[in-house]
Amino acid sequence: MNFETATPYRAIADRLALPAGAFIDGALAGPADGKLLETVNPATGEVLTTIAHCGPDDVDRAVAAARRAFRNGSWSRAAPELRKAVLLRLSELIRSNATELAVLESLDSGKPIRDCLKEIAIEVPATFQWYAELIDKSFGRVAPTGEDACALITREPIGVVGAVLPWNFPLLMAAWKLAPALASGCSVVVKPAEQTALSLLRLAELATDAGLPAGVLNVLPGLGETTGRAIGLHSDIDAVSFTGSTQVGRLFLRYAAESNLKSIGLEMGGKSPFIVLDDAELSPELIENAVTAAFWNGGQNCSANMRQIIDRKRQEEYLHLVTERARALVVGDPLDPATELGPMVSAEHRRTVLGVVEAGHREGARCVLSSSQALQAQPGNFLGPTVFGDLSPQMTIAREEIFGPVLGVLPVDGLDEALAVANDSDYGLHATLYTRDLDRALFMSRRLACGTVAINGFTEGDLKTPFGGYKRSGSLARDKGLEAMGQYLQTKTTWISISAPTRQG
Ligand code: NAD
Repeated sequence: MNFETATPYRAIADRLALPAGAFIDGALAGPADGKLLETVNPATGEVLTTIAHCGPDDVDRAVAAARRAFRNGSWSRAAPELRKAVLLRLSELIRSNATELAVLESLDSGKPIRDCLKEIAIEVPATFQWYAELIDKSFGRVAPTGEDACALITREPIGVVGAVLPWNFPLLMAAWKLAPALASGCSVVVKPAEQTALSLLRLAELATDAGLPAGVLNVLPGLGETTGRAIGLHSDIDAVSFTGSTQVGRLFLRYAAESNLKSIGLEMGGKSPFIVLDDAELSPELIENAVTAAFWNGGQNCSANMRQIIDRKRQEEYLHLVTERARALVVGDPLDPATELGPMVSAEHRRTVLGVVEAGHREGARCVLSSSQALQAQPGNFLGPTVFGDLSPQMTIAREEIFGPVLGVLPVDGLDEALAVANDSDYGLHATLYTRDLDRALFMSRRLACGTVAINGFTEGDLKTPFGGYKRSGSLARDKGLEAMGQYLQTKTTWISISAPTRQG
């Protein structure tokens, strides 16, 4: 079959069985009070299916199953080799079911199938594989002591983990949390975003097929203010790892304070700069990176580089090149592999993005590309790319996270102003920097107040490198890399006093 057109993906979509319910204690189950939510295809506006809207009773049930599994040790105390084998099997099952999972996620989220395939066929299974491989290679430490003691420093799973996820990378964000949490021996109660629950429900079934004991992984779809809140406030959840907006992240700190002081890991929003110093060549590769940094995933990306900070003398040339490339982006059917920009996740989110575009016009930014209007007549939540020039740092579009395809160029004079403008933000998730001068690259990298600095290429690193934010973009927690384990493990000291042995003879 030719997978270079939409036809085979549509055929898969037509025969897909859409998962329903919640996944509790090893099986799909309806919500206790029978409440359901509609899930809509963002590309057509049609209702795809209904999913469970889990209430506090379902959260209680899932946490009880997770706690029972944690206590009985079937996973938390299982031999490292066993846990490793199960997670490796899961990564293989994801690979072998990747096309179906990718179609499911594309229908549910509106993400282009080419992106879903890259994430689900490659990155998600690689994440489970990497943390699986780590399980039998992680050692404790022995502290230096006198001969009268032996001091062991070991790390133990924290217990029952709540994971609360956003809609923009549904399975990838799930993998960033589930893989290290499960590798560490924790049990997990995970809430996908209400817009995008389907692929994670299917993954939970695959985890059972891979041999994960019942109760270790529970998936509870539902709205934030009910399901998410009940997870945040639950007194038998030991830690929550949250990815989403700064506004909701703040609530999780409150939930912890009002319940059992659970540990809270926060990965939140951003307003990341893309800085082009005056020595950088405006090459096709740089322009491709600038457009990807802004428009990948329709700009619905926490590390989207929407503030593009350019030397004033080169603003016109830069705007021309970026606009030409952005104009050529293919907007359309997410199931078509040619599509680069799918719809916004919901009609409500599209309205929010258009509101920020209006603010840009009102506050005097210069609009050089506006392809939003033409698409508004179509069904679905499509928005084309918008490019503004002449932003000033105080404008709404220069300060607020937009989470849509809206790129803004801020002209600056010199390196110091570039740095000051880049750091003038409540957020600190990511920055991209272009320069040919290594001294300037390292000078800037050390002073940029953010968790990831990408030099001469837009990237979030790979799964071996930690990802998280400074300032209001995150807590000290990190996803990915060895650092992610820190969210799910706690450190124990065992101090053994040693008496000198009585010697015979
Ligand atoms: P959101 O904060 O609206 O929702 C995130 C999750 O929190 C969802 O599951 C939602 O149901 C839940 N939630 C909402 N209200 C809640 C409440 N009152 N109590 C408990 N839970 C609640 O975010 P979103 O719109 O799904 O995702 C977009 C945001 O996520 C952006 O700000 C983006 O920058 C951020 N994000 C950050 C990263 C990162 O790694 N730093 C990655 C992806 C997305």
